Amino acid sequence: MKGYVFLGDKEIDFVEKPTPTPGPGEALIKEKTSALCGSDLHVYRAPKAYRSSCTHTYTGHEPVGEVIAVGEGVQWPKVGDRVVGYHALGCGECRYCQTREFKKCPHNFIAPPDDPERVAMMENRDGSNADHFVAKSGQLLPLPDDFSYEDGSVLSCNFGTAWSAIKTGSCFPGGTIALWGLGPVGLNIVLIAKKLGMRVIGIDLSSARCDFAREAGADEVIDGSQTDAVEKLLSLTGGEGADTVIDTTGAGPVHERLVEATRLGGHIVLVGMGHETSVGPVPAIILRQVTIHGSWIYDIADWWPMLEFVRQHEIDLMSCVEEVVPISQFPEKIEKADKGECGKIIFRWD
Ligand SMILES: [Zn+2]
Ligand SMILES: [Zn+2]
Repeated sequence: MKGYVFLGDKEIDFVEKPTPTPGPGEALIKEKTSALCGSDLHVYRAPKAYRSSCTHTYTGHEPVGEVIAVGEGVQWPKVGDRVVGYHALGCGECRYCQTREFKKCPHNFIAPPDDPERVAMMENRDGSNADHFVAKSGQLLPLPDDFSYEDGSVLSCNFGTAWSAIKTGSCFPGGTIALWGLGPVGLNIVLIAKKLGMRVIGIDLSSARCDFAREAGADEVIDGSQTDAVEKLLSLTGGEGADTVIDTTGAGPVHERLVEATRLGGHIVLVGMGHETSVGPVPAIILRQVTIHGSWIYDIADWWPMLEFVRQHEIDLMSCVEEVVPISQFPEKIEKADKGECGKIIFRWD
């Protein structure tokens, strides 16, 4: 099989290695689509010293394709099934993995890089930017025929992450969301929140992203490069702030302002992973009685309600995608993404 690897310091290589035979409990997938995601950029930019131990693993974490072989003991999926790979792998043995809550496995990304039991796609496990992908059957999700492979790529990361943020933030119809960051995850939050009957106030420093959010249905959009976003938000909410404040930027200057942007008793959901900054100050968190949540990807159990929600509301998942291109364009697209010059890109393998 062949695919792309990150060597560190923004260098890429196209590497061929033997296609694996699925072992007991595993399935081999022929990739149909994969996607470019903000998380890939963190790995692309990582220094060579950090990447030196994992330059043999393929990049990407949104595998979607067709099962072409299964190992011993696999009841589902069958050869020919269309599937999506869940991107938290998990050790397969801890209390969380036993109940398929792989995202809570302590050997995921939360484990230190030198943990010998750490399991992480793009690091010590192959990711999705390759023509084949092998996975434990329990980490695969069915992709029904009424969803395209491209839809699968959107669902598997951006939409799922947006879904979980909304669920985690105790959102409710008629409530107000203040949403920092109007990239692919942010736009999916706009789509879902509007279908739930919420008022959505989007905030970004890019006027182009503000325009995308307006098109996606945001009620108000604040260009933070032109005005103080929190002051504007407070003026739009009668001085109270939003019921739920979601940050997809991971930016320190945003973190500092989240508490004052939140209504008394409201919820803050942190989704964007950027710098190691803090949300504060503590007295204000206590006196304003806000609840701060971390939300990472989505639960496997969310998959089926997500599919049904998209069907019920006839959501066009591709409306948040800029382009679908052949995988051969991976190097140029990641270079553009690194400069902030492109939105969500999906790669096709055939
Ligand atoms: Zn992703
Ligand atoms: Zn585990």
